Amino acid sequence: MRYISTRDGRSPAEARPFDDILLAGLAPDGGLYVPEKWPLFDANDLRALKGKSYAEVAFAVTSPFLGDAVSPSSWRAIIDRAYRGFDDAAVAPLRRLEPDLYLLELFHGPTLAFKDYALQLIGPLFDAVLKRKNRRVTVIGATSGDTGSAAIEACRDRDSIDIFMLYPLGRISEVQRRQMTTVQSPNVHAVAVDGNFDDCQDLVKAMFADEKFRAAFQLSAVNSINWARIMAQIVYYVSAGVTLGAPENPVAFAVPTGNFGNVYAAHAARCMGLPVSRLIVATNRNDILARFFNQGDMSLGPVEPTISPSMDIQVSSNFERLYFELAGRDGKAVTSAFSEFRKTGKLPIAKPQWDKARGLFAAYRVDEDQTRAAMKAVYQESGRLIDPHSAVALAAAKRARGDISGPMVVVSTAHPAKFPDAVESATGIRPEAPPRLAKIMKLPERLEKLPNRLGAVEDFIKSRARLGGGR
Ligand SMILES: *Cc1c(COP(=O)(O)O)cnc(C)c1O
Repeated sequence: MRYISTRDGRSPAEARPFDDILLAGLAPDGGLYVPEKWPLFDANDLRALKGKSYAEVAFAVTSPFLGDAVSPSSWRAIIDRAYRGFDDAAVAPLRRLEPDLYLLELFHGPTLAFKDYALQLIGPLFDAVLKRKNRRVTVIGATSGDTGSAAIEACRDRDSIDIFMLYPLGRISEVQRRQMTTVQSPNVHAVAVDGNFDDCQDLVKAMFADEKFRAAFQLSAVNSINWARIMAQIVYYVSAGVTLGAPENPVAFAVPTGNFGNVYAAHAARCMGLPVSRLIVATNRNDILARFFNQGDMSLGPVEPTISPSMDIQVSSNFERLYFELAGRDGKAVTSAFSEFRKTGKLPIAKPQWDKARGLFAAYRVDEDQTRAAMKAVYQESGRLIDPHSAVALAAAKRARGDISGPMVVVSTAHPAKFPDAVESATGIRPEAPPRLAKIMKLPERLEKLPNRLGAVEDFIKSRARLGGGR
């Protein structure tokens, strides 16, 4: 399997193998990597996955993407080790809420949010590939909350990696912050930027665009633009799909969406052959994606803080992967559309492409009151507490259900104890912290506060990274 960029350079000679794109993250032309073509699973392939363990499904689904980046036996061992530490034997269990309505719980990893499902695989995968190449990298990333801690857990104490994680000062929850700042490993650096998430993401992009800096520090990314994350997230859609009826019966998924990575992975599962009745993009009041799918308007607004902060995003970086497809895989068209988006704050979209997009996804905007109401209703009906991100998806799923028959899966992306204040204010009940969380609430914090300025962030990295002669 080889990968191409969503932007300009697109002759077959430039297609790259998995290990290259794993380490690079972003393509040199500023685009995102996508597979040259989708590996396909036919009905028999899907049937063969029924009743298999999560690790077995993960191995089957991801192996076609890897090429010879890592041997099948070491990949299998990495997968087994990664999911062994999860606190539910099913890894990604389905809970029935009502007939044909399920929660897919994706918060059983070390940081209690779905990002662990990909990052716990990617940490050891990076290490394996880097050791084989005798190389080191500096991982940089921007986080709206949950990516940061999951990436730090995946990279901590690894010889071949230094990790710098930028987050918006004062805009993530205390639990999210502590999950990053209480890690004492010397290769881990939590950086609080005086700005919002999009500022952090812009700083990361600017560092990648700074050729000298990028080369000196061998920059690499594990945030959701990295293809390997998408790949690992495809697994739980396939796993839920075969549990609830694939290949015979299609399943719908409602996904709480920010950067468009998770719901894009669902789309990827569909491209690989999983029968899907509908994919529902659920946004909070940062609704640029809902406006796009419903009105054809992708124009930037200000980022507004909500009780589902991991979705407080205006620029959904993974959307470029879908746009590439809508544009008939024309990298030139993508390049010019995204440079216009940068300049004017509005992404151009032609009517036929918009129609195609709406055929692939439905989208709903869920406001703060509706989010709280959804948390309260599940609690009253089933005694179950759900986190605000999951509640956004549940509210959207309920609105969409009229048009869809068959099973609907609400993707539950975080443990309620990660957002105790929001859950308590909606339900009157404070969720109990699992042991892993209780522990970090007492540990000392270590972080660096920096202004929203490229030079300041680069200087800090120079002073701390093991690469680039900083020390
Ligand atoms: C990251 C995150 C999301 C958004 O996922 P994207 O892949 O960015 O769309 C939703 N919920 C939680 C809890 C998250 O951490």
